[in-house]
Amino acid sequence: MNKADSGRLAAQLEQCGCQLALRWEAADLLIINSCSVRQSAEDRASGRLSALKTLKKERKDLAIALVGCMVDSNIEDLKRRFPHVDFFLPPQGFEPLIRWVQNRSLISTHERVPPPPVVSTPSAFVPIIEGCDNFCTYCIVPYRRGRERSRPPQEILGEVEALVQKGAKEVVLLGQNVDSYGHDLPKKPDLAELLTLLNSVPGLVRIRFLTSHPKDMGSRLIETVARLDKVCEHISLPAQSGDDEILQAMGRGYIVAQYRQLIARLRSAIPGVALSTDVIVGFPGETEVQFGRTLSLLEDIRFDTVHVAAYSPRPGTVAARSLHDDVPSAEKERRLHEVECLQEGIASAINARLLGQRVEVLVLGKQQGKWFGRTRMDKLVFFPDDTGRTGQLVQVKVERTSPWALQGVSL
Ligand code: SAM
Ligand code: SF4
Repeated sequence: MNKADSGRLAAQLEQCGCQLALRWEAADLLIINSCSVRQSAEDRASGRLSALKTLKKERKDLAIALVGCMVDSNIEDLKRRFPHVDFFLPPQGFEPLIRWVQNRSLISTHERVPPPPVVSTPSAFVPIIEGCDNFCTYCIVPYRRGRERSRPPQEILGEVEALVQKGAKEVVLLGQNVDSYGHDLPKKPDLAELLTLLNSVPGLVRIRFLTSHPKDMGSRLIETVARLDKVCEHISLPAQSGDDEILQAMGRGYIVAQYRQLIARLRSAIPGVALSTDVIVGFPGETEVQFGRTLSLLEDIRFDTVHVAAYSPRPGTVAARSLHDDVPSAEKERRLHEVECLQEGIASAINARLLGQRVEVLVLGKQQGKWFGRTRMDKLVFFPDDTGRTGQLVQVKVERTSPWALQGVSL
């Protein structure tokens, strides 16, 4: 979501005549888009902001903006900590910066050059619902991004058509909980309806969506994903824990048995579906036995991808206010590492099955001399080729596999 926000802000600034600086020392305006989901993310943003103090002293004309989830309603503390920062703007509250840029010519200090061509990207993020109503006890998102607000289907359709005209082949529909899309709109469309609408956009090749919530993913959506040819066989369904007591303390609204049933339904309706999940280790009170249940869930389901995080108390959340963060950091790290090791083995075995097979890759760009892209099941694939390939669908024969990516040759 932050990447999508950054992209939108960059596009708006380009419309105002700004250009992306190739080095941050050369910029007239520096923007740090921050994440608050864990303390480590905030620390990274704070570190970068502090490092800019000297540059600001040398270049009084430099403007610095901190945007995103680190900016809550009380910005006085941020102003005290970072007096060299000119703008503090919460997510989706970027207008003051746009107005300021519109009112001055930011590239006055450097030679004016013609604006670069619009960069077309083969895969584009499209937010469909902002905010979150779920208030999982550990999560800061509803406090920083507010309540759920769905965008009308026709507005999304218009944006997707425009993106396709600019060269997009794939759209990734975004929301903290995409399954609750539309409940706040007058005609109450749902995600299944939106996917059906977008599936008919000519020139669009693939549609993805994330993130789903296990308590809200219904049969209608599963059937729709199975039926629509452009919707990829890839579901992001965060489990967070494999233990019922911990799930209850997290306020997730499901038990492990329900989660397992949902996975079984997905697998029977969408053959070969790729599954990703998120897991938090070291939630307050999580015992070794409870953590073991998370490992068992991962062993049984065998996800394609697992995003694992150590619990980080977030100010203002129910967990931070009422639960003691009692799992020591070293133990959280150990559990995190154990999940990573287990998953490495599982992903390695899953990907090894693709050895020698032909996969269809949507090429996203070039890295270190090789083209890279993703399969419908979201596998990252690298292959060498002399011709320009970005945005093309290329058949690749897989010659090497690892837990993280596939290597092959184009056919
Ligand atoms: N909406 C999605 C869901 O229901 O899981 C995920 C959104 S959340 C911004 C992304 C991930 O960050 C979560 O799945 C969770 O694993 C992790 N996360 C959120 N709050 C956290 C916290 N306080 N400590 C550690 N990880 C956290
Ligand atoms: Fe946070 Fe996701 Fe829970 Fe919403 S559903 S509160 S974004 S973890």
